[in-house]
Amino acid sequence: MQGKTALVTGVANKWSIAYAIAKAFQREGATLLLTYQSERLQRTVEELGAELGAKKVFACDVTKDEDLARLPEVLGAEFPKIDVVVHSIAFANAEDLSRPFSQTSRDGFKLAHEVSAWSLVGLSKAIAPMMTEGGSILTLTYLGAVRVIENYNVMGVAKAALEASMRYLAADLGPANIRVNAISAGPIKTAAARGVKDFSKILDGIVAKAPLRRNCTPAEVADTAVFLASDLGRGVTGNAIYVDSGYQIMGL
Ligand code: NAP
Repeated sequence: MQGKTALVTGVANKWSIAYAIAKAFQREGATLLLTYQSERLQRTVEELGAELGAKKVFACDVTKDEDLARLPEVLGAEFPKIDVVVHSIAFANAEDLSRPFSQTSRDGFKLAHEVSAWSLVGLSKAIAPMMTEGGSILTLTYLGAVRVIENYNVMGVAKAALEASMRYLAADLGPANIRVNAISAGPIKTAAARGVKDFSKILDGIVAKAPLRRNCTPAEVADTAVFLASDLGRGVTGNAIYVDSGYQIMGL
């Protein structure tokens, strides 16, 4: 990834999938730019950014139109060309991940979809004009988009919207040689995953059933991100690649 500039969103801490991806991008020689949601995480992400040698660390809350609109201005002078964007952002209200799906509120549904799915569209719209030599946009999804996973509820529906958005963006931006793909990661213990009730049961289920009989690691997801973000993945767009120890192929 020498010579490529990658904007990575969603680093909250060392356990974030985005952190593992940023680390792998650094290893492969990319110039790293990191964003965080709010001042609450500024210090942590700045420290992680310093450790990773990130060239810029700045705020971008995807629920704020002004944060997305000013991206070209914030990056433009120093980094006029962006090659890679990693969208690693999701949120749903805790109660919508625990009560029966039929009880999902209108506001909870909207919020989950805005932060977890629409944000990929908003981010792509803001950055695509800066991908002047083509580019690669990646998002993180989960099996709950295509199967019913207990307690994943509205987040599963939001991930389905995210995957469909990924395909429409791939068709839309392909003529500009911008590829758009998703990695469907197996369950990984992170802050976001803690919001899913009985998450440890999901982890145990993978060990029992997945072909590889173990959970996937953030580093495995990150290496797939390197493939998709680099020229190795140049023929791949509009795909969700499973990095889940093979769990998604199994039936009963
Ligand atoms: P994580 O470390 O908690 O990352 C989630 C990130 O989303 C955090 O940095 C969070 O920032 C950010 N975010 C939430 N609302 C935002 C907003 N309005 N604007 C900007 N950023 C916002 O958890 P993770 O597991 O690595 O999640 C990353 C992605 O991987 C998510 O899309 C998740 O659904 C997906 N994924 C996770 C798993 C898993 O098992 N962990 C499996 C498959 C897919 P704050 O901390 O400031 O809220």
